[in-house]
Amino acid sequence: MQHYKYDNSIENFNKVIFFPDPGIVCRRTASGRICKDKKCCAVHEETSLNHLLNVLKFSKQSVDVCVYMITCSILSEALVECHERGIKVRIITEMRNSGEEGEVIGSQIGKLRAIGISVRCRSSSFWMHHKFVVADNEILVNGSFNWTNQAVMGNFENLLITSDDNLVKPYIIEFQRLWNLLEPVFESE
Ligand SMILES: [Zn+2]
Repeated sequence: MQHYKYDNSIENFNKVIFFPDPGIVCRRTASGRICKDKKCCAVHEETSLNHLLNVLKFSKQSVDVCVYMITCSILSEALVECHERGIKVRIITEMRNSGEEGEVIGSQIGKLRAIGISVRCRSSSFWMHHKFVVADNEILVNGSFNWTNQAVMGNFENLLITSDDNLVKPYIIEFQRLWNLLEPVFESE
């Protein structure tokens, strides 16, 4: 599979992707090898999920995630990889889906917190219903997509990926505004 990189020489990078994906990309294909297993049922071309994963994979400094629900382990593993590469990862999510208040099946937030990723959420009458990501203060991903397996494989969803400053900047400001607004729950910073 050819992983595209975001070309900074292009003034504005724009891409629209839709879900559901037909399946999960084959691990061999994803790692750049050719899959010769004729019984392999995985997908062997670029998926929408991979476009989103590439935003995380090619991040250079920071990834700010503001998503209502994170239960998809493939996406949370991608955040773990970012964190391990030294990328500053910050997450804002809905308290009701964080696993801190009652049972949320498959919430990845506890795991992400456990390795030292900063997560902010707080009980409020306002639902944190956003679904956007800003990478390197340069790339915005925004749309209907929650980070769940259901959204990847079972829902009609859309995401816009853009480097247009006019679109990216308000999201940078909104992320920082929410980050400041939400009290830390388990972190000392
Ligand atoms: Zn395969």
